[in-house]
Amino acid sequence: MPGSKISQRVRALQLAHDCAALGARIRTIHHLTGLRPRELLYLLFNAHAMPPCGRAPNSREWYHNANLLQRIEASVVIANFQRMRHLGFPAPEALVGAYRHYQSMYRPPPRISFDRAFDLAAHTEGLWIAKAPSFRLAACARCGSEFLDALGGADTTARPCPFCQLLDRHARDPRLTASFAEPPPASEDLIAHLMPVQDLLTDANGETPSTSPSLPAAET
Ligand SMILES: [Zn+2]
Repeated sequence: MPGSKISQRVRALQLAHDCAALGARIRTIHHLTGLRPRELLYLLFNAHAMPPCGRAPNSREWYHNANLLQRIEASVVIANFQRMRHLGFPAPEALVGAYRHYQSMYRPPPRISFDRAFDLAAHTEGLWIAKAPSFRLAACARCGSEFLDALGGADTTARPCPFCQLLDRHARDPRLTASFAEPPPASEDLIAHLMPVQDLLTDANGETPSTSPSLPAAET
């Protein structure tokens, strides 16, 4: 019964549940689901689990003061969001999926909250709380990355690609080095596991064992 009232209601409730689990405030869930704030408060929160409160994010103001890592992670969230939109997902589901993917990529706590992601997505696509876009995804001519960029206007100024800035500063700034550590070296367990295969491949007879699991045949 896709499109029926009950399926629309189930979709809205599932979405509300997902958003609350990602830390969304009631205002954000209301805009994404259309459910009334009073109902959301009743359904999702209680004395032990209170909704986030305080001032809602204002990303146009935030963008001017955001540091390099915040701009990089904001770019990742919005690039994920737009990819899911291009795949045909409705905007609320695209935002939830993009945010989950972002969370899986970085160590907690996230620099971009779900409410911030909502505000950025709204102002990139001109949705929900935004009448028109004030951000866009720009493609960097130097590194090819997509990054969040402010559209020209009275209160916005274009800024350089944060990924290129990261590469330039990575080796010089210990805070960045700590956040983007080098991949760990192969563990001793892994080396011990691979060693017998390697030994067999370089066997004195020069024959490649037929039981070699997945490694390509050694050239002799
Ligand atoms: Zn770049």
